[in-house]
Amino acid sequence: MRKDVRILLVGEPKVGKTSLIMSLVSEEFPAVVPYRVEEITIPADVTPERVPTHIVDYSEAEQTDEQLFQEISKANVICIVYAVNNKTSIEKVTNHWIPLITENTDKDSRVPLILVGNKSDLVEHSSMETILPIMNQYSEIETCVECSAKNLKNISELFYYAQKAVLHPTGPLYCPEKKDMKPLCVKALTRIFKVSDLDNDGILNDNELNFFQRACFNSPLEPQALEDVKNVVRKNLIDGVHYNGLTLKGFLFLHTLFIQRGRHETTWTVLRRFGYDDDLELNQDYLFPPLKITPDCTTELNHNAYLFLQSIFDKHDKDRDCALSPDELRDLFDVFPYMPWGPDVNNTVCTNDQGWITYQGYLSQWTLTTYLDVQRCLEYLGYLGYSIIAEQESQAAGITVTRAKKIDLQKKQTQRNVFRCNVFGDMASGKSGFLQAFLGKNLERQKIIKEEHRSYYAISTTYVYGQEKYLLLHEVFPDFDYLTDADMACDIVCLVYDVSNPYSFEYCAKVFKQYFTDSKTPCMMIAAKSDLPEVKQMYGCSPLEFCRRHKMPPPQSFTCNSAAEPNREIYTKLTTMAMYPHARLRCMCTCNRCTFCLCQNLLNSELLQTVRTKLYAVVLRSFASLLNRHIIQEDLTSSSFWLRASVGATVFAVLGFVVYRVLLKIR
Ligand code: GDP
Ligand code: MG
Repeated sequence: MRKDVRILLVGEPKVGKTSLIMSLVSEEFPAVVPYRVEEITIPADVTPERVPTHIVDYSEAEQTDEQLFQEISKANVICIVYAVNNKTSIEKVTNHWIPLITENTDKDSRVPLILVGNKSDLVEHSSMETILPIMNQYSEIETCVECSAKNLKNISELFYYAQKAVLHPTGPLYCPEKKDMKPLCVKALTRIFKVSDLDNDGILNDNELNFFQRACFNSPLEPQALEDVKNVVRKNLIDGVHYNGLTLKGFLFLHTLFIQRGRHETTWTVLRRFGYDDDLELNQDYLFPPLKITPDCTTELNHNAYLFLQSIFDKHDKDRDCALSPDELRDLFDVFPYMPWGPDVNNTVCTNDQGWITYQGYLSQWTLTTYLDVQRCLEYLGYLGYSIIAEQESQAAGITVTRAKKIDLQKKQTQRNVFRCNVFGDMASGKSGFLQAFLGKNLERQKIIKEEHRSYYAISTTYVYGQEKYLLLHEVFPDFDYLTDADMACDIVCLVYDVSNPYSFEYCAKVFKQYFTDSKTPCMMIAAKSDLPEVKQMYGCSPLEFCRRHKMPPPQSFTCNSAAEPNREIYTKLTTMAMYPHARLRCMCTCNRCTFCLCQNLLNSELLQTVRTKLYAVVLRSFASLLNRHIIQEDLTSSSFWLRASVGATVFAVLGFVVYRVLLKIR
């Protein structure tokens, strides 16, 4: 909203400018009038629109042309005053004042004009016949009003119209010649309709209308008022109401009606609530709410924002196949001024067999944007109307700024949900294959990716001890001399070499020695293309020996040249290492022989599952009999049965936890 409104009165001498101002202030007609009154300021709380208002007088006798021009350029709205009984003063409106104002104002900043016919007490007839053609000729004339400083007719109205012309200008909304809304206004209202159409069926039903009404005006519509609105639309438009709800056409028609009836403050209230400024562009303050991010922290979406994004997905996944077809995706981003996701996104997140972004992939891409460029995420959430639909203060309410990583390391635990893995490796060592395999694409499916559609990021979810976490892989361009601090900043490092290329390991060894020897970031060596015959690496020691010397897990064999989806195990390991950089999970071999592997397998084994079920049954039975001694036998539906069952379950849970702790200790 504006901070204040500046109203300037101009016109021929003696038409009553000074008298009008004095009548407004003192509520009586002044007998003696000076040439000019000093600027007066009306405090916000006594003006109808609650905005401080300055009223500025002009007198040819007291002021120079230069002063007049300055005042014109400072004004937010200009009242051109004439006397209804003075023909010359009316003629001067068009042949002097309007051209003079046009010359002295910016072409881009349109200053609204109001034509004021004073001294209406002196004549019987109205001057409207002469004025209306002028109004039609100049679109900058917002309105006209006839008044009298003498008998105080229409005085407060005049200043109210002036204020309104500034706060709720007709100009950007409506074209009087075409008697229709302007294209930008239609575009903005169409976006508002789409955002408010929560189920995306092209109709605002009663629920949606009520929500909209509450969001914009803080109060729901009475059922009768709702019917009245729909009836007005029905009467005037064939397809304005459909299935008892408002169509886009009906919605636009309603707003045209508001504007035509001089109620454009209604339309402005709606537009402003959805973030638009006076030029019908989305406000920067709306799109980029303040969000404090300290160094060493990352940005993630919180539960509330994910719920909102899920609802957006659901409303656009019309065929319910849990993926967005190109049409569905276009429809989803229809409320954006541009298409935010390019074809590279399809190679950054999981897609289905048709190459369409899946539900999981969609959430991953949002997670990625939030992590890499939170300002962009705020902007996007703004286009989707997050603050309005999720009833939040601003988009910033959907973002979690994580604790500094330093503190996570000190406390040896983290609440983060997104972990970044930077992938290093020489040209053609298999980095991209490693990234794409995380998205479930084997070599065959990777071959069809066009060069211009490839991505240097891949993000998806993995499960670490039953918790869903995002792993973000980033392929670092192998230009050894230009590795930046940003290239080093991550939660885990992957060093990829090609087992079939004897010169590929050297790069990994070099990167490690140069940048990561003393780093706290855990590193993992990936022996890529393991389906090809392994050759001896031309380096001082073997990769295995290198890893042993530098206390790294042994190189992890990896191939994406598989018939089915590539194995995902490595990604879980990476996420685990990123989450627990302290833990000495040195054995990453999956050899099925060492303690780690045995424990891991035992935890997942069928034997343990069976033991668990058996144990549960035994515990339940023994507790049931224990309780039976005290409680009179009742049938199974009675409360005592459920009491027994829940006690049994609790005991098992405690026991299970103890077993788990023991296993963990062994590991
Ligand atoms: P300005 O030069 O435009 O500021 O005009 P003034 O306010 O000085 O008014 C010029 C003369 O017109 C004064 O004698 C006022 O008393 C008179 N006047 C101003 N407004 C009205 C009005 O509404 N009705 C009548 N009858 N006289 C008015
Ligand atoms: Mg005067």
